[in-house]
Amino acid sequence: MIQIKCASLGYDCPWTYKDTSEYEILDVVGMHLREAHNLKEVDLDLLGKIRTSLTYPTPGDAAAKADIIMSKYNCECDPECSERFTTAVDNLIEKKEPQKKKAA
Ligand SMILES: [Zn+2]
Repeated sequence: MIQIKCASLGYDCPWTYKDTSEYEILDVVGMHLREAHNLKEVDLDLLGKIRTSLTYPTPGDAAAKADIIMSKYNCECDPECSERFTTAVDNLIEKKEPQKKKAA
């Protein structure tokens, strides 16, 4: 999760927001600044300020995330995952066969 604190933009404001997408955050922050702080528009200077104020996951978080991805996609190290992969392939073959029969 990427986090932004309104206070780190120089406002005396407890508002914070978390999201996985930087673009989503910039969007929501812009909305918050317009609604809560009567800002007319977010210019490039402020955009830069927002970007430098974003808090990205710590290296520990990033490593944990990589581990999850590894265990999810590396089928060789996870028998259960390999089984799921085989089932998925079986389903694909089953789906294709009726189409072939219809076409023939
Ligand atoms: Zn605010």
